[in-house]
Amino acid sequence: MKIESSLIVNGKRVDGRKPEEIREVRMKVGLIENANGSAMVSFGKTTALAAVYGPREIYPKHLQDPEKGILRVRYMMLPFSVDERKSPGMDRRSIELSKIIRTALEPAIFLEEFPRVGIDIFVDILQADGSTRVTSINASSLALASAGVPMKDLVCACSIGKVDNVLVLDINGIEDNNCQADLSFAMMPGKDKITLIQMDGLMSKEELMKAIELGRKTCLKIYEMQKDALRRKYEEVAKE
Ligand code: ADP
Repeated sequence: MKIESSLIVNGKRVDGRKPEEIREVRMKVGLIENANGSAMVSFGKTTALAAVYGPREIYPKHLQDPEKGILRVRYMMLPFSVDERKSPGMDRRSIELSKIIRTALEPAIFLEEFPRVGIDIFVDILQADGSTRVTSINASSLALASAGVPMKDLVCACSIGKVDNVLVLDINGIEDNNCQADLSFAMMPGKDKITLIQMDGLMSKEELMKAIELGRKTCLKIYEMQKDALRRKYEEVAKE
């Protein structure tokens, strides 16, 4: 939705947040019994459910790589995830986002330990209100870890926008449609390695550096949230 009025009034955003405030974050690990690992992550109304299958033998066989395992990601926004029903199935956007999510996660996985096999991640967006790709990366990271896939680190992600000339964290749907620029950022906080920077729109060099720093600080907080979510799951299992 395009809007003409300001997106920041008296220092507050359209949903009442301060520029550097993220929405309420909820994380839950282990929701799908058939999957090797699964997780649901919400940033406000944006909710992603990720399920990991594998490592398992890959079909068709000609896709197998004798040197390393293959990570495949399928991102999809469900028809009821937005106000106006979205047509079901894959479109160009979901193909692009699937690839982006895969490239953000790949550096964290010891794929060379799994020649000839594949790891599949299915991410479904149950509700979309901006920042679905970064929410999907956080959900996939938790799902991979809960599947026991050997990883160098968790991958944490957030979005940063430029709205009314102000940098804002964790953009919602209205901000996404009306911002001057938006940047998706992912990193392995424990290794201090960035795995994704993707930007639409324009920022000055100074703004870009500030946006990356904001992304880095936020990912450190998300890192603690992801570790807590995993800990909660294993405490539950230990009690059972
Ligand atoms: P991201 O969700 O990662 O920010 P986009 O910039 O492509 O990716 O999408 C921004 C937002 O636009 C989405 O989070 C969603 O709220 C909205 N959106 C995307 N596709 C559709 C669609 N087909 N119908 C309605 N809203 C959509």
